Amino acid sequence: MRRPRLLELTLKNLFRKPATIEYPRKKTPVESDYRGLQYADLTKCTGCSICALECPANAIAMTPIPQGYEAPKTNPRRLYPLINYGKCVFCYRCVTVCPFNAYITTPKYDLANAEKTINSSPLSLSTLRKG
Ligand code: SF4
Ligand code: SF4
Repeated sequence: MRRPRLLELTLKNLFRKPATIEYPRKKTPVESDYRGLQYADLTKCTGCSICALECPANAIAMTPIPQGYEAPKTNPRRLYPLINYGKCVFCYRCVTVCPFNAYITTPKYDLANAEKTINSSPLSLSTLRKG
């Protein structure tokens, strides 16, 4: 009795869609409010440091904007929040406490895959003009 049942099941499953997602070849779908990589838009950031002070994981270091980038006049100290994604717990406290709504949020989650996004520097600096 058991063998015909096994054969039936094997044949049935042979033509079924796989139950798993072939990540990373296919991306895992995420909820619309998923908390992925976040970074500061430096055209809005004033370098006030509130997000760094409030971060519970001590993942933000206020860092000088490198020479060659045009910092806005509203940021006279030329400082910006550099997020270490290796320490970040993605609580989004930084996003909610920023009084200037400077944070840009994304659903990006594949950190192990993203050599260039180990910290927020490339993303944040890309919001400034060079000059
Ligand atoms: S999301 Fe939370 S842990 Fe990550 S940098 Fe912002 S405040 Fe810190
Ligand atoms: S709280 Fe907002 S304005 Fe202040 S340093 Fe952080 S990102 Fe910049």
